[in-house]
Amino acid sequence: MFNVRQAVILGAGLGGRLRGTLDDRPKGFLELGNRPIVEESIAKLVHTGITDIVIVTGYCHKFYDRLSEKYPFVRTIMNPDFATSGSMRSFYMAAKYVNSDFLLLESDLIYEYNALQTLQKSPFDNCILLSGKTESGDEVYVGINDDRVVNMSKCRDDIECLGGELVGISKISLELYQKMTNIFPEKSKHNSQYQYEDCLTDVSNSIAIHYQCVENLAWNEIDDENHLNKAREKIYPLIIQRDSEIIISKKVERQVLLNPGPAATTDTVKHAMVVNDICPREKEFGDLLEGVRHDLVRIVHGEEAYEAVLFASSGTGAVEACLSSVIPHDKSVLIINNGAYGKRMQQICDSYGIAHIDYNLDWGESINYNKVEELLEKYKLEISHIALVHHETTVGILNDITAVARIADKFGVEVIVDAMSSYAGIPIDITDSGIHYLIASANKCIQGMAGLSFAICKKESLEKTKDIKPRNFYFNLYQNYIFFTQKHEMQFTPPVQIVYALRQAINEYFLETERGREKRYAEMYEVLENGLRMLGFRFLIKEQFRAKILTAIIEPEDENYCFTEMHDFLWQRGFTIYPGKGATEKTFRIANMGAITKQDIIRFLECLKEYIVMENIKLK
Ligand code: PLP
Repeated sequence: MFNVRQAVILGAGLGGRLRGTLDDRPKGFLELGNRPIVEESIAKLVHTGITDIVIVTGYCHKFYDRLSEKYPFVRTIMNPDFATSGSMRSFYMAAKYVNSDFLLLESDLIYEYNALQTLQKSPFDNCILLSGKTESGDEVYVGINDDRVVNMSKCRDDIECLGGELVGISKISLELYQKMTNIFPEKSKHNSQYQYEDCLTDVSNSIAIHYQCVENLAWNEIDDENHLNKAREKIYPLIIQRDSEIIISKKVERQVLLNPGPAATTDTVKHAMVVNDICPREKEFGDLLEGVRHDLVRIVHGEEAYEAVLFASSGTGAVEACLSSVIPHDKSVLIINNGAYGKRMQQICDSYGIAHIDYNLDWGESINYNKVEELLEKYKLEISHIALVHHETTVGILNDITAVARIADKFGVEVIVDAMSSYAGIPIDITDSGIHYLIASANKCIQGMAGLSFAICKKESLEKTKDIKPRNFYFNLYQNYIFFTQKHEMQFTPPVQIVYALRQAINEYFLETERGREKRYAEMYEVLENGLRMLGFRFLIKEQFRAKILTAIIEPEDENYCFTEMHDFLWQRGFTIYPGKGATEKTFRIANMGAITKQDIIRFLECLKEYIVMENIKLK
């Protein structure tokens, strides 16, 4: 859907005319809403499919450098001559990172989302975005001839045939960029203030530069106090209004998935899958994979010592890969089972003939950590690993992985955690917790598509598995890891489009932030729990043990109650709920994960109430 995936933002400028207001910040760090305007611009770029943003910095560059620490898809490069050079010098600096067609933006712009969509949809490789009259007092007029740009000037009289005013957002092909960077060294010798607009004019006779004019585009460049006041009072509110309308008009009819994965995804994650066909052995795809692998580890704060190994499978694939690859042939794994996914680990071990010692609890019962210690003591000569589920999705219980890892550490035992339905929903610090292998998949709290699973492995532990005689082939963890590190490719055919969707989902995770995602999920849970309690429902798991991402609800005993009928009633109204699974009491389940909101939960509770009243089901 979107062709261009890279963006370059010019953010080196001094912002001299706003000195008092700026207070030692670059112009991009002005705030009109609840975050700096450059971060608003970054969020819009991500939502239009941009996955790599290069910011050329200068004045107070540390502000931008901090953004590159916050967002994995942002890189900065500094123009050391920012105080004395024109914008083309900064643009030239970006060459180090530019590797494809890209969007070029100025950092001090506010603009409606439509600006980016217009360029992304434009059939032209080179396209300058123009608007109608702004009367900003600082206009750059763009001269055209037929469908091509021929010159630009701040002086209206220089322009013979006016196409519109330059917005400061353009789509630039690699070919055009190369032409510009080729002439820059010579041009800059004679003009230290050489601007990128001058350079576009200079090359416009040797390459077709097109334009797209959006007559009443809402946008503002903020260079002085007048611009700032106009932005605050008029343009910014207009942008907010228009952007909200665009999102509403784009909304496809959707199911609010309240099942515990595959979780609901954003439209932008769905669209990210529509990409040019690409051979996954190409370097471009290898770079994408490496970025994804790195950022999956970053989400659990393990960059120093961990590596992600990906599999084209559902989540169970990575659990199977891990268990069947890391336990030495003469050792056993202690498996804690308080739900279906703990049980599944035991089944996997049985299939491979891997010795396991089971700590079985009722499904939904919380772990007795003294018992874990007792078992490790009793079988200390046999056990090399302990395996457990973090959020046991069968019942919605959260097991304390750090407590288990602390005990395991005393016995020199390594820890394998199935974090399928907690990863990216509940903050995890893999390094601090002392976990050796953490497994998850792309389609739950990270909010990507189903079909890709991964194990985040301590490198030191992986190396120790090198000499274990393989019990498996496709799923061998060490072999897959080696393939990644040596070739930067997946060993077997990757699910190409799902990797693109995951890239987008990861970017959206970092935009929302770890804390933001945790907060959104927690708010949805609170609304859900409160609403269900008010209706009279009872819960399977005690409050203090709940993961708060999935709630197991005890089924009413009333004879009018029927899960299938309730499911169908809600499904017709856009909500998917989930049956229970093998717990001590009969339950049904509601998850609050994925790209859904508090408002969705409120609407769900209204529909549920309607059903309860209609069927006259007694709950109390
Ligand atoms: N482990 C846990 C904790 C899960 O919640 C799930 C699925 O919901 C799985 C493993 C299995 O994942 P998949 O169905 O993707 O194979």
